[in-house]
Amino acid sequence: MHSDINILADTSNLFYIGGVVRDKILEKESFDIDLTYVGNAIEYAQTIKNAEILKINEPFGTVRVRIDGQETDIASTRSEIYERPGHLPIITQIGCSLKQDVLRRDFTINTLAQNYKTGEIIDYTGGLDDIKAGKIKVLHDKSFIEDPTRILRALKFSVRFGFGLDEHTKMLRDDYLKNINYDMSFKRLKKELIETFNLNLQKAYDEFMDNKIYKLVTQKEISKTGINIQKFITEYDRLIEHSNIWLIYLATISDLANLELTKEEKKIIKDFNSIENLSLNTDYEIYNTFKNLKTETIIIYGILKNESIARHYLNNLKNITISINGADLQRMGIKPSPVYQDCFDYILKQKLANKNLTSEDEISLAKKFLINNN
Ligand code: ATP
Repeated sequence: MHSDINILADTSNLFYIGGVVRDKILEKESFDIDLTYVGNAIEYAQTIKNAEILKINEPFGTVRVRIDGQETDIASTRSEIYERPGHLPIITQIGCSLKQDVLRRDFTINTLAQNYKTGEIIDYTGGLDDIKAGKIKVLHDKSFIEDPTRILRALKFSVRFGFGLDEHTKMLRDDYLKNINYDMSFKRLKKELIETFNLNLQKAYDEFMDNKIYKLVTQKEISKTGINIQKFITEYDRLIEHSNIWLIYLATISDLANLELTKEEKKIIKDFNSIENLSLNTDYEIYNTFKNLKTETIIIYGILKNESIARHYLNNLKNITISINGADLQRMGIKPSPVYQDCFDYILKQKLANKNLTSEDEISLAKKFLINNN
């Protein structure tokens, strides 16, 4: 927690807001502490004793301060309108009332404010009851039209907290998904996809597919894989970069063009596309196909093409290496030449067939190979 602002400034108009209040009520740790000032937070920050102003975002009315070495963001209350549904809203007032600020938010569970000074909880939308009932409810009927990323946010919060969607909210979601406006900010959609699927929860994938939420990403019809992706990923957890987990889930959607993948993300998918139609019959073929690929790509292969081949590589082949090297061949009196590589390949093939080969065995196999091939 950050230091006590009560002794440094007048905090009567300062509020914890949104997720942080929700998390306190649920007794869960918050990812970040959001503070809102009813009025102009930038001017307010200058009245906090010993606060160092680190960053000001004038158009948004937000400010980052450092107090006693700790950094805190303070936002001004603001109201917004959506001139272009699906895109960022336009701010209509900085320093509006707390109620107006709260009414621009996504779900009732995210609208609670707690007065910094008194601890009083202000609930304009029935959010407290919805938290207790485990219900995710939008504030008005146009919510998903204005901002379709909220459909993913609803999914994210539902799987994170084990909450359900309120029936009317579910109906609004399903209506929107039947008539999506693809002129939207995919950058924000991608951020929510990443946050949702990096949780590595099968339930998120099941809901995403069963309720056709995937239609936000592609207009194509996609069928769901029967493989338990969460279990697959968890088994090979230590071989995966956690920030890429979402891509494994989303790879079941072949068309991710809208998401502007990074170079690394593109490579994971492209590598899969380049091997998906190869016929892999021997351990040697499997080994050579997978050896330079990221585990993420191999798991995608396992989900979409052949689970047993992917597992066989990861469980039995991945760690096989030959111990013989160029220096060993030189000691046998063989000058460096392309025959080295042929020799290593030959030994690798033998080793894949017989994992117990010792380094002495490798040397005698090399000798045999070189006699026949040099
Ligand atoms: P988390 O624990 O995932 O950080 P959070 O509720 O704090 O959850 P943030 O994405 O940090 O989520 O957003 C902070 C607050 O801003 C939310 O609680 C919500 O009130 C509001 N908010 C965020 N995204 C939207 C959105 N797309 N539409 C409306 N309000 C939003």
